[in-house]
Amino acid sequence: NLSDKLDKAIHVLKGHGQITEINVAETLKEVRRALLDADVNYKIAKEFTVKVKEKAIGQNVLTTLNPGQLLVKIVKDELTELMGGETVGINLGGSPTVILMSGLQGSGKTTFSGKLANFLKTKKSKQVLLVGCDVYRPAAINQLRVVGEQIGVEVYAEEGNQNPVEISQNAIKHAKANGKNVVIIDTAGRLAVDEQMMTEISNIHKAVNPQETLFVVDSMTGQDAVNTAKAFNDVLNFEGVILTKLDGDTRGGAALSIKSVVDKPIKFIGTGEKMEAIDVFHPDRMAERILGMGDVVSLVERAQEQYDEEEARKIQKKIAKNQFGFDDFLKQIQQIKKMGNMKDLIGMIPGVGKAMKDVDIDDDAFKGIEAIIHSMTPAERSTPSMINASRKKRIAKGSGTSVQEVNQLMKQFNQMSKMMKMMQGGGGKKMMQMMKG
Ligand code: GDP
Ligand code: MG
Repeated sequence: NLSDKLDKAIHVLKGHGQITEINVAETLKEVRRALLDADVNYKIAKEFTVKVKEKAIGQNVLTTLNPGQLLVKIVKDELTELMGGETVGINLGGSPTVILMSGLQGSGKTTFSGKLANFLKTKKSKQVLLVGCDVYRPAAINQLRVVGEQIGVEVYAEEGNQNPVEISQNAIKHAKANGKNVVIIDTAGRLAVDEQMMTEISNIHKAVNPQETLFVVDSMTGQDAVNTAKAFNDVLNFEGVILTKLDGDTRGGAALSIKSVVDKPIKFIGTGEKMEAIDVFHPDRMAERILGMGDVVSLVERAQEQYDEEEARKIQKKIAKNQFGFDDFLKQIQQIKKMGNMKDLIGMIPGVGKAMKDVDIDDDAFKGIEAIIHSMTPAERSTPSMINASRKKRIAKGSGTSVQEVNQLMKQFNQMSKMMKMMQGGGGKKMMQMMKG
């Protein structure tokens, strides 16, 4: 994958105290190969390395104290630039604001419609209406209804009406009459670009004149994503791109190419199936992520957002007084689960992320732990030291686990308590430094 390749290339550079013109050229060749492997368009990859080389020469990389670091910075800055440079928000003008989703079937339109509705509702206090215009598959409207229920957003659909233009126009009327200020129109897609789909979405587009037409694309589709983006842009001249499924291994190709091919910003990324798995796209963070530095900033922000500070303070007090018990442990686990996809979070931690890439971690990993804790009595939870062998046996039985698993949890718990005590003494900062490498 791209980040591994770049890592390797940059590693070679870092290894050399001195950088010669020859190994700059070699490294750039490696960078270019990595970009091509990640499905970046050939022309873009070539232009990219030429630009990096020019900059490197311009900034006298060869004579600086830390040439490797400077070159990494130049590569990172150029990658950032390639992905659009700045974060671009969405236009919430118009009353109501109309947002039209476009893209192939399976790209993540319906899921993203829900995520965006939830985002606008919770972060921007908007009254959102979701509109189901995928009239060909009854299941599609149901899927949108389920999403709407999950996030508490009204879904407008017309069972039996096969005309998406009519439905979307009626939906906007309905929104106006019911005090909604954002209308998100979810549309039908097909497995490949075809004329009928293009005509249909183009007709909806003309009829509702949206503030934002967003092109949703599965980031795992590589070079195809670029071709599809171009086809949709030719017809819709869309405002922005949504990159979905960035929670997997593939992280580079599409993000790097799309912006330069269609010259439209990537606005959001999807990082999981849950409604919370949405992030504003930050080109600089993406560049860092691609370069394997880990998306530390996003990680910290997400953690802060989801972490209940009040709860944290209470727990800290308990740790200080040696009163930290299994109930608190359970709460911590629930906090972690709230932060979203575990693999996604871990992937953002530099160093660790890569090592854990192939390890299967998901919310299920906590199920055993939760079962064990639920099988403890309140006294055992608050005073774990009283859990002796016979109690362990009972707990294992009650939770459908083994004594071994209970022992393992006890060990983890003790380690965690110790670590948390350490972190209280300003160790938190130290840990962040360790994470940054
Ligand atoms: P649509 O056909 O364009 O409406 O696509 P859907 O919204 O139905 O999504 C297709 C599949 O991709 C579903 O199984 C979604 O759960 C999944 N999906 C959508 N977005 C993401 C994402 O960001 N990450 C992951 N892992 N899966 C996603
Ligand atoms: Mg759909």
